[in-house]
Amino acid sequence: MIEVSDVSKHFGGLKAVNHATLTIEKGSITGLIGPNGAGKSTLFNLIAGLYPPTSGQIFLDGEEVTGLKPHELFHKGLLRTFQIAHEFSSMSVLENLMMVPSGQLGENLWNTWFHRKKIREQEEQVRERAEDVIRFLKISHVMHEKAGNLSGGQKKLIELGRTMMVDARIVLLDEVGAGVNRTLLGEIGDAILRLNQERGYTFCMIEHDMDFISRLCNPVVVLAEGTVLMQGTADQVKNDEKVIEAYLGR
Ligand code: ADP
Ligand code: MG
Repeated sequence: MIEVSDVSKHFGGLKAVNHATLTIEKGSITGLIGPNGAGKSTLFNLIAGLYPPTSGQIFLDGEEVTGLKPHELFHKGLLRTFQIAHEFSSMSVLENLMMVPSGQLGENLWNTWFHRKKIREQEEQVRERAEDVIRFLKISHVMHEKAGNLSGGQKKLIELGRTMMVDARIVLLDEVGAGVNRTLLGEIGDAILRLNQERGYTFCMIEHDMDFISRLCNPVVVLAEGTVLMQGTADQVKNDEKVIEAYLGR
């Protein structure tokens, strides 16, 4: 689904990503691991279009997307999760989800004036979709809670839910498990697996927790010093000499 071909990203003299080549297979949950500063987040930002690579190419379903902007990739079904912005924390979970679909008629003054009925109908559709997402994620009990009052893990579930408000095909998750308690981590893992199996989502996720990775990811790609060190199953990666050395910083 995604092909990263010989991609580099330099920040001044620093080679954050250095001739990285990898494939994210359609239908996979691909894990991306590596020591701090390995270039994982930078690689994600390149795939998500936050900035263009210094060199190399990126393909989405065989189509070159190098240099496309995040909103252009968004319309092609490539999403990355973002933390719930501060200004949305006083809105309810339901409202946070309803914010997502872009290009709603209500945003346009002309339409507001002339198409009130149509807007109401569309709002109703968006609400139904949001309620469906809430049921899928099994968070009906916090539907009307302010997003700001949720726990860290619940917020992560909402972030995942936001990707379900549009027709996402591939979702990039940057440390979705960070700072989340065990119980909620299990629930987030369940939601990811069900989105993958029942809704056909492809995932690429940066993660530190090896148990979480072992449960969800195949394959696991190891990044070190900006390049792909190896790729394999979680077990293969965990027991690999090169990987252990990279983590120990030798
Ligand atoms: P990881 O996510 O694997 O910890 P990053 O991709 O965040 O690694 O960072 C890789 C390297 O690139 C680090 O040395 C980091 O300091 C540097 N870096 C990341 N983003 C920038 C930036 N916008 N400007 C300058 N240096 C950056
Ligand atoms: Mg990072």
